[in-house]
Amino acid sequence: MKEVKSPRRPLIYYYGIVLLTLLIFNLIVAPLLSSSQIVEVDYGTFMSMIENQEIGSVEITDTQIYFTDTDDTVVYTTGLMQDATLTERLYEAGATFTSEIEETTSPILTILLSVVLPLVIFVALGQYMSKKLTEQMGKNSMSFGMGKSNAKVYVESTAGIRFDDVAGEEEAKESLAEIVDYLHNPDKYTQVGASMPKGLLLVGPPGTGKTMLAKAVAGEANVPFFSISGSEFVEMFVGMGASKVRDLFKQAKEKAPCIVFIDEIDAIGKKRDSQLGGNDEREQTLNQLLTEMDGFEGNNGVIILAATNRPESLDPALTRPGRFDRRVPVELPDLQGREAILKVHARKIKAAEDVDYHTIARMASGASGAELANIVNEAALRAVRNNRSVVTQADLEESIEVVIAGYQKKNAVLSDQEKKVVAYHEIGHALVAALQTHSAPVQKITIIPRTSGALGYTMQVEQGDKYLLTKQELENKIATYTGGRAAEELVFGEITTGASNDIEQATKLARAMITRYGMSEDFDMVALETVNNQYLGGDTSLACSADTQKEIDRKVVDLVRTQHEKALGILAEHREKLDELSLYLYEKETITGEEFMEILNREA
Ligand code: ADP
Ligand code: ZN
Repeated sequence: MKEVKSPRRPLIYYYGIVLLTLLIFNLIVAPLLSSSQIVEVDYGTFMSMIENQEIGSVEITDTQIYFTDTDDTVVYTTGLMQDATLTERLYEAGATFTSEIEETTSPILTILLSVVLPLVIFVALGQYMSKKLTEQMGKNSMSFGMGKSNAKVYVESTAGIRFDDVAGEEEAKESLAEIVDYLHNPDKYTQVGASMPKGLLLVGPPGTGKTMLAKAVAGEANVPFFSISGSEFVEMFVGMGASKVRDLFKQAKEKAPCIVFIDEIDAIGKKRDSQLGGNDEREQTLNQLLTEMDGFEGNNGVIILAATNRPESLDPALTRPGRFDRRVPVELPDLQGREAILKVHARKIKAAEDVDYHTIARMASGASGAELANIVNEAALRAVRNNRSVVTQADLEESIEVVIAGYQKKNAVLSDQEKKVVAYHEIGHALVAALQTHSAPVQKITIIPRTSGALGYTMQVEQGDKYLLTKQELENKIATYTGGRAAEELVFGEITTGASNDIEQATKLARAMITRYGMSEDFDMVALETVNNQYLGGDTSLACSADTQKEIDRKVVDLVRTQHEKALGILAEHREKLDELSLYLYEKETITGEEFMEILNREA
């Protein structure tokens, strides 16, 4: 179904039009009109016209001379000059002297055009406006308030999306399949007395397919899909949000059974707090939403799906039983999921037979569904750019880097020395990792600057998904983060800004080990920090005394320092390999995991 928008516009819009009309009229039309009436000529022309006896009547004012031709059809004007014999000559040329030429330039027409016409336009617009308003009032005579005439229709096309199009996310699909079944066959449920949850909360990081899943539910059940985004509710005019909620549910109830999808519900559903200057608008909207949800029976067929990536910030009133009481996690896809998503999107492109999606999925570790879709599309674009008709493995591999690290910067900005530093830095990371775990730590390292600002890019290896990490493994990770800087120190005796991201990561990890994973002796299993935002960056807030904080800070520093020293030790011990590998990377600008291991294991 198509979205129908009513042309409801604020009053100021119409006033603007009227003003504009007046302005245009006065600036353009009026001068045009008058200039077509009076022709300005130079004094020479005037004199020669006198000589040729071509003057009809003439009027001389203080500054101007107005005159007409013999037929009185055109009015001319010219400036007044010191001309003693002018009157005489005019008389001789047979001109009539008058004092009315200027005014005779159709004064009625002028008045008509400059006063009456704008008035007519103004009145006509007013009529049109009031007609429009009455029409809309008629349509919505039930509601009052600013948002009453907003007749937006929220039904949206699901674009034929089915569960098949959403790859991975099996658990989420399973949970939603029940809803589809209910919509198909409500009797089966009502017979037993079971009622469907009114609201389901799709929770997960951005780009994991929450919107897609909601559409797929409507698509599978073949019911209308109403959609609105939480941020749309919060509008400029107070009262709009609440009335929009009312509107939405009114329409939905008429079309039941149906799916109502509220994206970014956290925009309105944030915890209501007693902070000064709270957002009234948002609270009203939220209250209206709660009222609507309570207002209809569990079995009337309106199912509300809402999506959020910050579930912890939602108001408890929203998540209590009877409202959004079921939570469907939509997580980042695992290896298998990534492969499936790649394959789903590869259906839309022409890919070579031998493309190995498993490898691509492994390389794109941590990518969301949206990013994977993007990777496939980038690969197709790359194929077109290179005048090929099929997408190859290389296209896909390159586009992983493009999507995650940005495009290659064509005009290399790295100086020779910088390039050397970057090569050592990246090899430093990889070598520390390899010597701790005795396996290939990377898929590939490149030191081509990226538009994202990264000077090098390391594609980590991922052998399937790991859910538990030991303390030892975490420490090794920290050592690996410090490996880049350690290599710089060791080789150049100097440090650069290149390690800022490493520092951030290492610190985060070290902190988490102490405050959340209970991995320090002194604090045992005490939580010192809580995670605020699991899906967006994972901010944390401290939950301990200032004294403890000080101690945590000291322990974090100790932990990172120990690992940093360990990394320095490892690299110093294998200095020859570090040089050999770095030189290779410096010259070739790229090294694969296999090449890396081959050089590392080669007998010197
Ligand atoms: P969200 O609502 O979670 O932010 P969307 O549903 O809008 O994410 O997904 C954005 C795009 O990413 C989709 O249009 C689709 O192309 C792709 N995508 C995301 N997850 C998946 C998935 N599981 N399977 C297939 N495509 C996906
Ligand atoms: Zn680094």
